[in-house]
Amino acid sequence: MATKYLFFTGGVVSSVGKGVTAAAIGRLLKERGFQVIVQKLDPYINVDPGTMSPYQHGEVFVLDDGAETDLDLGHYERFIDIRLNRACNVTTGQVYAEVIGKERRGDYLGGTIQVIPHITNEIKRRIASVSKLTGAEVVLVEVGGTVGDIESLPFLESLRQIRGDVGRENTFYIHVTWLPYIGATDELKTKPTQHSVRELRSIGISPDMIVARSDYPIDDSLREKIALFCDVEKKAVVPMVTTPIQYQVPLLLEEAGVGDYLVKRLGLEPRQKPDWTGWEHLIEEVRRDKPPVKVALVGKYVELHDAYISVREALNHAALQLGVEVDLKWVHSAELEKGKGWDVLEEVDGIVVPGGFGSRGIEGKIQAAHFARKNQVPYLGLCLGMQLMVIDFAREVLQNDEVNSTEFDRSTPHPVIDLMPEQRDIADMGGTMRLGLYPCQLLPGTHAGDAYSVPLVQERHRHRFEFNNSYRQVLEEKGMCFSGVSPDKRLVEIAELRNHPFMLGTQFHPEFLSRPNRPHPLFVAFMRAVCERSGVQITEKSASFVSEAVQK
Ligand code: GLN
Repeated sequence: MATKYLFFTGGVVSSVGKGVTAAAIGRLLKERGFQVIVQKLDPYINVDPGTMSPYQHGEVFVLDDGAETDLDLGHYERFIDIRLNRACNVTTGQVYAEVIGKERRGDYLGGTIQVIPHITNEIKRRIASVSKLTGAEVVLVEVGGTVGDIESLPFLESLRQIRGDVGRENTFYIHVTWLPYIGATDELKTKPTQHSVRELRSIGISPDMIVARSDYPIDDSLREKIALFCDVEKKAVVPMVTTPIQYQVPLLLEEAGVGDYLVKRLGLEPRQKPDWTGWEHLIEEVRRDKPPVKVALVGKYVELHDAYISVREALNHAALQLGVEVDLKWVHSAELEKGKGWDVLEEVDGIVVPGGFGSRGIEGKIQAAHFARKNQVPYLGLCLGMQLMVIDFAREVLQNDEVNSTEFDRSTPHPVIDLMPEQRDIADMGGTMRLGLYPCQLLPGTHAGDAYSVPLVQERHRHRFEFNNSYRQVLEEKGMCFSGVSPDKRLVEIAELRNHPFMLGTQFHPEFLSRPNRPHPLFVAFMRAVCERSGVQITEKSASFVSEAVQK
């Protein structure tokens, strides 16, 4: 069958949940038996978000092949339960780098290089490559930003051209917009949607479906109005009222008939009836009143919750598995250094220190690890969080406060965390870390070994620094256990403490592989320890699926 393309554009304002909508629609199609893949086109000039501040961009989501990508790819993977690859995130920077590289090599034989056709051809080549690479039958393509942005014009022009290239019956344009609410007259307004559709039309794209997002219920007359003014069928105007439970979006879209409508319009024959039982259970579980457990997330970008979105989701997935609710407390590590926020750490039953870079707030995080260790509070360290937990422990073992990572103190007398040898001569910042899947061998009879209950796993990495093996023996003698190592035993992947209910850190990022109904085993193990400490009764669901999440 010919590859089908679904294109997602955004209108009116950004942050209306375009990524979640695309992810949810991907799920609708997967439920009907189709092999789907999702691609995000980002209009910025950076080659990837790896070098961008989380304040600007939110979390960097890492894929199996080590691609550093937009956080929307996390939505796609979680909602559809798929594994994406490097080709699934295209940026303007990548497109231009490729075209300029070719031009320098003389590949264009003296031609004048222009946005149309050279840049648009490169964009189209990248869109076509995703299905070639993965064999996906339906490719969902989301364009970042909002229609009307100068930056996204070449992407939109490419999408327009694709309809001509592959045929009308193989393309479908979905425009996600926002209906503002006017309090004075108590009504929702469709005019901005009409304007953004007009803007889209001026580029040559007529949407086939409009997903109208709003904070208030959207009645039938509004749908009719949008259908009339924007020239789409009424059935194709999909009202999408804000829901506090994002995982409900696939069910809402299914109820609105979007799945059936799409397969019909794309001329597809569904291979199976969607089975939402598992997903419905999940939502029931989310809705159910569950006993809360308090967990602190100690980070430096805590004002922007999107910077830790996968960590937050992984905690929620694990909590759902155990029938409890995470009451997440965001603690700023730099505040801890000033003596503030300690009351929060006093009241929680678990502490998470996520990944991070640079020295701001580092001592605060080390103090948080120290607090967890001394007070027997369950602790989960993710990448940087593992490194800092090692530093705290080594400071005590070696009786030296200057123990550090060379990332924060180049001349520390005890570099327990140090640059990997292969990283020493690297000058470029972009895409040069240890990235993507690496194998990790587990030591049976440890927290990690028990949690995974398989001998070998593959986990996603993103870091430059590493545990320094010169300190392995001395720390081991004093109670640290290296429960996960690379198969050649050279690299420490997981460290944990023996005389502690649960103090464990991973050099990799387990949060990227957690799924709503397949929580990550280490997060489940951590949350179980949290529940135990808080005295909350858990009602664990079957855990048979958990190891699949990390066994490729
Ligand atoms: N900054 C640390 C390193 O580069 C940790 C990275 C991270 O937490 N992702 O090794």
